[in-house]
Amino acid sequence: MFWLTERFLSIQGEGRYTGVPSYFFRTGGCNLHCPGFGTKYRVEGEVRSGCDTYFAVDRSFAGSWEAVEDAEMLLSEMDREFEALGYLPHVVITGGEPLIYATDAIFNSVIEGLIRRGITVTFETNGTIAPDFERYPFYARCVYALSIKLSNSGEPYERRIVPGTLRSIAENARESFLKFTLDRQIVESGAAEQEIAQIRVMLPEAEVFCMPVGESRAALERNDRAVYDFCLRHGYRYGDRLHIRIFDTTVGV
Ligand code: SF4
Repeated sequence: MFWLTERFLSIQGEGRYTGVPSYFFRTGGCNLHCPGFGTKYRVEGEVRSGCDTYFAVDRSFAGSWEAVEDAEMLLSEMDREFEALGYLPHVVITGGEPLIYATDAIFNSVIEGLIRRGITVTFETNGTIAPDFERYPFYARCVYALSIKLSNSGEPYERRIVPGTLRSIAENARESFLKFTLDRQIVESGAAEQEIAQIRVMLPEAEVFCMPVGESRAALERNDRAVYDFCLRHGYRYGDRLHIRIFDTTVGV
């Protein structure tokens, strides 16, 4: 069994496949918390700090999550939706951290079913959990957007950087790339340059996308110019956050 917090058809707004019509599954639960991203939210009067998808991380919201207990039922629903749509969109599995479910039988049946249908499946992952590629070979046919957390996440180094996991994904997956979320402070302090360089030593072949931190248009606008200049200086790809530019703080789009 695994948890879904939402699923919806949209356009990929981040990373290498920006602009591609995609069906999103957002799983519930994460092995990190990332308080440094500073999104404030309330739970029963208590103010907490987390990332922009805190509602898919903090288990206080689990009452509104959907338990998936039947892979075939979910896949049949997908088949009907895609038939009505008239084309096969990409499927993006995001979270939270979707790969916390990489040993879950129902989750694995869903991923295998999507791959069997010829669908391009992308995992948006923090890169700290690798699937068992030998036991579940369909994971090697997926794309991995490695959204590795830097010090601005507020997570300790040893929790957010797991070198063996990164190598396993880079060596086994058909495709992977790096995606960093940067704010003005981490760029201007020089920490982004240093931390990304350290990660690139582990994954020298991986293409690098940098995008601004921001759960809203206003927050993006505070950080985008610094990230733009940073990308120009280092030859990295600037990746915007299309859905936030268009929909601002609306979720489920
Ligand atoms: S790893 Fe991603 S989903 Fe998990 S807490 Fe950090 S930013 Fe949020």
